[in-house]
Amino acid sequence: MSQLIKPARLLLLGAPGSGKGTQTTRLLKQFPAISSVSSGDLLRKEISSKTQLGLLASGYIQEGKLIPDELIINLLTSYLSNNKWLTPKSTWLLDGFPRTQNQAKVLDSTLDKFNSKLNLVVELNVPEEVILERIENRFVHVPSGRVYNLQYNPPKILGKDDITGEPLTKRPDDNIEVFAKRLQEYKVTMGPLKDYYENQGILKVVSGETSDIIFPKLKELIVNKFD
Ligand code: ATP
Ligand code: MG
Repeated sequence: MSQLIKPARLLLLGAPGSGKGTQTTRLLKQFPAISSVSSGDLLRKEISSKTQLGLLASGYIQEGKLIPDELIINLLTSYLSNNKWLTPKSTWLLDGFPRTQNQAKVLDSTLDKFNSKLNLVVELNVPEEVILERIENRFVHVPSGRVYNLQYNPPKILGKDDITGEPLTKRPDDNIEVFAKRLQEYKVTMGPLKDYYENQGILKVVSGETSDIIFPKLKELIVNKFD
């Protein structure tokens, strides 16, 4: 476990299946001061609770499309505000939001007001063959967002979450057809989003084939910048 001296406000970018969720879990263990939120996890909870937003979002998700900016911006900015993350001293990590340049601009205008700007954006760069293989073997625990992989990171008991013993499920968008669409969507939106953060001077890239290779590089970036 390590402590960070300066407030760290992070965004993880990366193709679907690049390991954002896995790296987040590891970062939280290493740096207990960081809180995290994943837009995909929030949406999956809305879907499992059958809220109005959940019903609307599930159609987009099952087709591998992004949900409209306005909906996701509202969901995430309420989350940030309800959890008191909009302060200059707060330390947190976002996974999956923002994911279009427009979302990034709207988020920035909110963060600016509270003097709590994002200060590090890291792209996880993993070869496409590797992520395709991961998706097929992936299972999730929806209430917590914990991710398992039957090959690399299997649950202790097949089909059950290690911590709660509750059932694991397969995401409806984790199949070859929908995955191809998600990957395509990612490629289209990522260029402008990366340019936006590159221009702010806060974008870094870490590359590797496994989460074990990526994690130490990611950790080093964070320690160098915030310790
Ligand atoms: P991973 O597979 O690594 O979790 P992902 O980015 O494909 O990555 P999620 O982040 O879980 O998956 O998102 C799942 C779906 O939820 C997306 O395909 C999209 O439909 C919707 N979604 C999540 N975040 C956003 C966002 N910021 N803007 C629009 N749609 C989003
Ligand atoms: Mg994820």
